[in-house]
Amino acid sequence: MRSFLAASILIALLSGCASGPLIDTTYQSRSQGSRVTFLILHYTALDFAKSLRTLTEDEVSSHYLVNDDPPVVYRLVDEWRRANHAGVSAWAGLNQLNATSIGIEIVNPGYRDTAEGRVWASYRGAQIDAVVALVKDIVARHDIRPDRILGHSDIAPQRKQDPGPRFPWKRLADEGLIPWPDPARVSAREAVYRDRLPDVAWFQQKLAQHGFTVPRTGQLDRETSNVIAAFQMKYRQDRFDGLPDAETAALLDVLVAMAAGR
Ligand SMILES: [Zn+2]
Repeated sequence: MRSFLAASILIALLSGCASGPLIDTTYQSRSQGSRVTFLILHYTALDFAKSLRTLTEDEVSSHYLVNDDPPVVYRLVDEWRRANHAGVSAWAGLNQLNATSIGIEIVNPGYRDTAEGRVWASYRGAQIDAVVALVKDIVARHDIRPDRILGHSDIAPQRKQDPGPRFPWKRLADEGLIPWPDPARVSAREAVYRDRLPDVAWFQQKLAQHGFTVPRTGQLDRETSNVIAAFQMKYRQDRFDGLPDAETAALLDVLVAMAAGR
């Protein structure tokens, strides 16, 4: 009996050597969670063929690519592996978000500059339906917090504008996926700020509390203006000039208060 047991152990050890260490998964820790804590949305600024070639053959990549017509969702990188979509990035004091995020690239041309000014391309309804379904599925499986479903422009506002001012963030809010400022509260705060607009230092503080990386200079420098524009592109899409105003102050104030449970 003893020799039979010894032989069994020996065989197990030998087979272990051949195919990696033997792992017993009988027990599971209660304290654990997904390594994926951010979901980042992008537009490709390219047509489908060029998007696919870039994301599969170049140095950049994303977990998902959502075509416009037909609205097919392609998985290019397994969710458990790292893709290179975020670059130098930060949110709420966390940085290098490639390591902790899933990236979704949406086929959309972005913008083109014309004699009448910059024209941003809209998204097709069926494509957005596909994005929403994908986001819901990923968020449920990885238990991603609503305030960590973000655009590339949120996490890299000095470099990036995607998914741009035509991306329907409100639709994601209506689906219960992201926080959205309550309109009645925004109106009330806007009335207050219309009489007395907070100074730039106030905006910088609130933008930082919201999650952005923003200078704390008290000056409306280029960097601060870029962050304000990124915020406006999401929550006030008809005007994103990067200038502080009463409505932007109200939107920001209400969002920060909501995040703090107030
Ligand atoms: Zn991007």
